[in-house]
Amino acid sequence: MSFAKTASRWKTIGARLTLWGAAVTLFVCGSLCAVLYAGVFFSLRQGIDAFLEGEVREFMLTVNEHSNDDSTLEQVIRRELGARTRHDLAFRLFDTKGRIFVSSEADDSFAKIWSAPQGWYDQTHRPLFQTINPPGDPYPYRTCSLLVTTPDGRRCTAQASYLLDRMTASLARFRKICVIVLAVAAAIALFVGRFLAYRSLKPIQALTAAANLIGAANLGERVPLAGTDDELDRLAGTLNEMLTRIDQYVEQLRQFTADASHELRTPLAALRGSAELALSRTRSAEELRLVIEDSLERYDRLQRIAEDLLLLARLDAGENILHIERVQLDRAVEDIVDLYRPVAEDRGLELRQENAEAIWINGDGGRVRQLIGNLIDNAVKYTPSPGRVTVSLSRENGVARLVVADTGRGIDPEDLPRVFDRFYRVDRSRSTSRADGTGLGLSICRSIAEAHHGSIELQSTPARGTQATVTLPIG
Ligand code: ADP
Repeated sequence: MSFAKTASRWKTIGARLTLWGAAVTLFVCGSLCAVLYAGVFFSLRQGIDAFLEGEVREFMLTVNEHSNDDSTLEQVIRRELGARTRHDLAFRLFDTKGRIFVSSEADDSFAKIWSAPQGWYDQTHRPLFQTINPPGDPYPYRTCSLLVTTPDGRRCTAQASYLLDRMTASLARFRKICVIVLAVAAAIALFVGRFLAYRSLKPIQALTAAANLIGAANLGERVPLAGTDDELDRLAGTLNEMLTRIDQYVEQLRQFTADASHELRTPLAALRGSAELALSRTRSAEELRLVIEDSLERYDRLQRIAEDLLLLARLDAGENILHIERVQLDRAVEDIVDLYRPVAEDRGLELRQENAEAIWINGDGGRVRQLIGNLIDNAVKYTPSPGRVTVSLSRENGVARLVVADTGRGIDPEDLPRVFDRFYRVDRSRSTSRADGTGLGLSICRSIAEAHHGSIELQSTPARGTQATVTLPIG
């Protein structure tokens, strides 16, 4: 296996969890072992110290009995020590200058550890315990020294010394056991951690595999839910919701592209047809002029569609195309109403404006006018004569509320939710005139309203009329 592959294996969450688990286990077991070791060490030493102190005091009783004859004393002590099965205890009596009066050791086997504790004579009569590590010796010694005065008046130190071979060996065994325990704990932690990490992360692998299989061609597929309602199941649910949104968005995009190409193809085909017809035989200047006039209308429509599409694309992309300024909304409404009044009158409609109080907003004057124009244009377009279109503007809870209401043909309830879709026209067969809308007007209105942090909604009753309500924050 290559190094990169091995390295990437350890980057997985599973590997990291396993390592963390093993590290924590090692730390906890290591701390426990250390505490246990310290406890065992100190309790063993305390026992040895108590034993040594007892031995020193017993030694002093013997000293007191034979204080006038050091050699008899030595023999007594050696005899008593000789009864011990192990040669691990020794006694000594020496003066303040370190001169030895009495020693339980005939030879020098314990000699190297004898030493008078420096600076200790000034202190109390409490025993002094020391651990001495003679260089070259495999085991240390524990000594207990007591400042005493013999019955013949000598100030001296009584010292007992104990070889710590068994304690050292026991502690070494304890350490070995600790190492084995730690190694086993680490191995178990690694094994169990790996197993648990694998088990708990298995659903993620399934999720990743399922998500990998979903592409543009099968956006309808969903990742499977385990039904456990745990975090991973909720993640799968969130992924599915996201996929649904993407699916809807892609579907809208597909529909939009299909509609856009259809909208562009129809006038282009008509333009080509009329050009071919014009060229099919010799035409008079008047006939050619009519063809060109006809073409110009179609060019206008194409241009309108292209401009609308570009505007929508830029608003969708969140491009900063708005030129924000102070806009007097009531004045803008008045201008557009004035602009459409002749058209409305031509169609036998009454167009009137109500409640024109002065309202200022921060917005793009051109786009806001386009929004108002689209709504009035629709109202005029879809209201048969005799009819009425009313535009009213008011201030409500900090927002400007613009209502364009007509007494026109209205929109069927099943069409109402879709009229903001791009290229959606309620009755395409009736909208064949080149001057008719493109089905982009309301989508543009909504994009403009939302770009101004406002909103737009439509209420309609078939055969009775439609009411478009736009709210825009007051600047
Ligand atoms: P268009 O450019 O075709 O008018 P819109 O997006 O502005 O496109 O409107 C979409 C559809 O909504 C229109 O085709 C029309 O059928 C319907 N509609 C919009 N406004 C009105 C209205 N005031 N009265 C009746 N129908 C309307």
